[in-house]
Amino acid sequence: MIVFSVSWVLGRYDFDIVVIGGGIVGLWAALDLSMRGLSVALVERSVIGGETSGKFHGLLHSGARYAVRDPVSARECIAENKVLSRIASHVIEDTGGYFVAVTREDEEYYDEFVEGLRRNGIPFKEVPPQEARREEPELSRDARIVVEVPDKVVYGKDMVVSVALTAFNHGALILEHLEALEIRRGSEGLVVRVLDKLRGEPLELSARAVVNAAGPWAGEVAKRAGVEAEVMPTAGTMVVYARRLTRRVVNRMRPPSDGDIVVPYEAYSIAGTTAFLVEDLDHVEPMEEEIEFLTREAAAMLPRIASLPVLRAYTSIRPLIKMGKETEKAGREATRSFQVIVHPEPRGFFTVLGGKFTTARLVAEKLGDEVAGFLGVKKASKTAETPLAGQDPYQELRELRSLGQDLFQETIKGLAGSMDEERGRTAAYTAIHYLVSAHSRKKLGLL
Ligand SMILES: Cc1cc2nc3c(=O)[nH]c(=O)nc-3n(C[C@H](O)[C@H](O)[C@H](O)COP(=O)(O)OP(=O)(O)OC[C@H]3O[C@@H](n4cnc5c(N)ncnc54)[C@H](O)[C@@H]3O)c2cc1C
Repeated sequence: MIVFSVSWVLGRYDFDIVVIGGGIVGLWAALDLSMRGLSVALVERSVIGGETSGKFHGLLHSGARYAVRDPVSARECIAENKVLSRIASHVIEDTGGYFVAVTREDEEYYDEFVEGLRRNGIPFKEVPPQEARREEPELSRDARIVVEVPDKVVYGKDMVVSVALTAFNHGALILEHLEALEIRRGSEGLVVRVLDKLRGEPLELSARAVVNAAGPWAGEVAKRAGVEAEVMPTAGTMVVYARRLTRRVVNRMRPPSDGDIVVPYEAYSIAGTTAFLVEDLDHVEPMEEEIEFLTREAAAMLPRIASLPVLRAYTSIRPLIKMGKETEKAGREATRSFQVIVHPEPRGFFTVLGGKFTTARLVAEKLGDEVAGFLGVKKASKTAETPLAGQDPYQELRELRSLGQDLFQETIKGLAGSMDEERGRTAAYTAIHYLVSAHSRKKLGLL
């Protein structure tokens, strides 16, 4: 049953919390806070998961990549890898992952790497190279050491929609195409002035607290509240090849660096990534040299990748916490952990920075603790124990059919069992996405 707690006061909407940003962090925040019994409106200037949370590798980290240099993030990753595998198994493929040394230099990293895995409680197993090649025949003959870790694959769109749907089922409104222009103090609490980009009209939402979860744009949104939040926007490019080469994720056994991973994503392989600082957050694009570089590096682990057609490449931006100087090296070395900023002014304004797709639930839990504390709400986070909705996307469509989508549901469901079943599932999640968005708008009279 869907319960809404939206009230209309003097031409303004009243919520306990407005969340700005519909990436994975904002969506988990909307879910976490609505599960604590608070009324939440999330505003996203385009579509949910349309930015970094829809343009990453699809890796559900085991933490191994950060085991040596970023132990806090490594521990967060392995903990969340376990939590998400429990509550969101329908969007996760338990592929496993290999770390592979293909040069003498890589080999030298081995002791440090394994020690890091041990220290951070990341389970691992050394696999003799011959056995690894039996398991993964495309693996390079140069593989000298292979270590298996519990890396997995998370399907981005399905996860984003499942979190949004669960938040919506708990009463949160997921409002797309609404851009936050200004956050200011109102007579009570805070007022967020937004532009409805579909209708070209401004409107105001009032709230007791406002969460800035705008990812790479968090600095820009903080400015719109008259305060500072220092983000180090670091872009990276990924390349999609026309075939899946491995069952497992394949990582290069060396410190975090450009071109160190290939992720099997459905029927494809995704190679990544690079790291460079950007100023213009709204115009990042893959460069030809990056595609060549990433293909070369991926081929050192999986030679056949060099002969596969490149389907496409995409670039997105990490919302890293700025620490010290902004340099390219800093982008690689910055922690992948996160930070919740409780701004003293305007009171009730919170910013969240950093984190990973893998750790977004945890980020939202810590943020939720701060926001709930501020509002005097004692309920603890429940997201770690609550399975996400969306396990059976076709069923969800039936439950959301009040907009008259039953025929649509049957059309999509008709693909189940056919050669195009995966496309049907994607269509089902897209339809759920549309319904959540449309219902949320309808509740505010914006549709
Ligand atoms: C190259 C690359 C590869 C990565 N690979 C992985 C990986 O394999 N595994 C993993 O766990 N993590 C990975 N990450 C990290 C992960 O993708 C990000 O940490 C995560 O997606 C960030 O989510 P977010 O919600 O903070 O930001 P975003 O997803 O960018 O969401 C922020 C949202 O805020 C919206 N917004 C901005 N301004 C406004 C406004 N004024 N009003 C309303 N809305 C606004 C934007 O439109 C956007 O949708 C990768 C990151 C990069 C860059």
